[in-house]
Amino acid sequence: LCVLGIESSCDETAVSVVRRADDGTVEVLSSVIHSQVVQHAAYGGVVPEIAARSHVETIDDLARLALQQAADKGVTADDLDAVAATAGPGLIGGVMVGLSFAKGFALSRSLPLIGVNHLEGHALSVRLTHDVKFPFLLLLVSGGHCQLLSVKGVGDYERLGTTIDDAAGEAFDKIAKTLGLGYPGGPALEREAKTGDATRFALPRALLGRKDCDFSFSGLKTAAAKIAMEQVKTPQDRADLCASVQAAIARQLVERSARAMVDFKEANTVEKPAFVVAGGVAANQTVRRELTALADKHGFEFVAPPLAYCTDNAAMIALAGLEHFAEKRAAPDFDGDEFRRESLTTVARPRWPLDERRAISAPIHK
Ligand code: ATP
Ligand code: MG
Ligand code: FE
Repeated sequence: LCVLGIESSCDETAVSVVRRADDGTVEVLSSVIHSQVVQHAAYGGVVPEIAARSHVETIDDLARLALQQAADKGVTADDLDAVAATAGPGLIGGVMVGLSFAKGFALSRSLPLIGVNHLEGHALSVRLTHDVKFPFLLLLVSGGHCQLLSVKGVGDYERLGTTIDDAAGEAFDKIAKTLGLGYPGGPALEREAKTGDATRFALPRALLGRKDCDFSFSGLKTAAAKIAMEQVKTPQDRADLCASVQAAIARQLVERSARAMVDFKEANTVEKPAFVVAGGVAANQTVRRELTALADKHGFEFVAPPLAYCTDNAAMIALAGLEHFAEKRAAPDFDGDEFRRESLTTVARPRWPLDERRAISAPIHK
């Protein structure tokens, strides 16, 4: 099976061609990304209108490039079985650009279209490179989300916990902004933290002792802003605060994941289940190291996608679409023509919780 994937939900335009062989081997034939970071940097965050326009300007060229790179490996547009595009959640203008492009492409080539939940892309991204079996425990830590999920199968997710305010990546970004580190803040804060003393500043521990798997980062954000204003005078002070903040975020991820691991083990009898960490924050080395140690302690196998698949990319969207398409196609009542027609009515959704049972967008007409 060969699928063209399109991603445009935030500030990356991305197109990819992914192939899965009959034996299950997954091959990323191309994965091209245009990041808008420089366009948004001046504003200290993503500006939706600028993002949408940039998607419009780049998507044609990116698609051409992704198809060309796949063709160089012997897979042409004629070999595609379906088109998958992010249909939400995300900035609606951007989502609509990618989804509309995908619809046009699918229509012109008579291909089915799969509307993919962006979070599902992150959830399954690990399967691009690792043969991870269901069920597995997932920590999704990105710019807009911070969730613990039990991934039982394709389209079957149980949310164990989520953030009650900011996402972990958002906390990195906002605190970095307060410290004048620029955008995006996560990588900048990590660089700065390298020379800092993580024990220098005491920061609050949110939701400590709570019996659920929820997260909260707003108290940490406020405390860090206060320290930044009152106590950060030298570059060393700043590095120390960055290191302290990074340690505090990592610690909360560890504490809540530990809780989820206990719950997961109670509900499942898998020998050594996988603990998958996906989303941009998984790129953070301190976070990775501590979560790896935690997984070892609790009898989980720590797995994280390579960094290129941790942040937004279209290969994960192509794969999620491919997995759904494979299931649909295997169903006894599968009608290719009807599926092709119906798939064009997929709608863009600004909000779309991953644990909602319906994994594919609802058609407009009902
Ligand atoms: P979502 O998927 O929830 O819509 P998103 O797509 O913006 O959000 P990703 O692209 O997965 O999120 O990740 C971006 C986030 O990851 C940003 O908040 C960024 O600061 C954070 N991030 C990236 N690298 C690092 C790092 N090395 N340390 C900490 N945070 C990081
Ligand atoms: Mg992004
Ligand atoms: Fe994302």
